[in-house]
Amino acid sequence: MARRAWADKVIETYQCGPCRGKVHVEEVAKLLTNQHARAVRIIKKRKRAAYFDKHSMNADQFDAYIAALDDVYSDITKGRA
Ligand SMILES: [Zn+2]
Repeated sequence: MARRAWADKVIETYQCGPCRGKVHVEEVAKLLTNQHARAVRIIKKRKRAAYFDKHSMNADQFDAYIAALDDVYSDITKGRA
């Protein structure tokens, strides 16, 4: 499967029937917002999971893992609130 096959599949659901498959600006904005929200959800989920199962890591590993998740969260949310 081509790497961007998933993206083509997502786009298909946003194509406008009456406009022969054209994707409108509002729909593209919704698509980007959804993808961003998904990334944010994933990071939050990983963080919750780490706090829930702290004992699978030692304290230093746990702190480093949480710090890395916080860095990624801060980078991907910068300018996108
Ligand atoms: Zn249309």
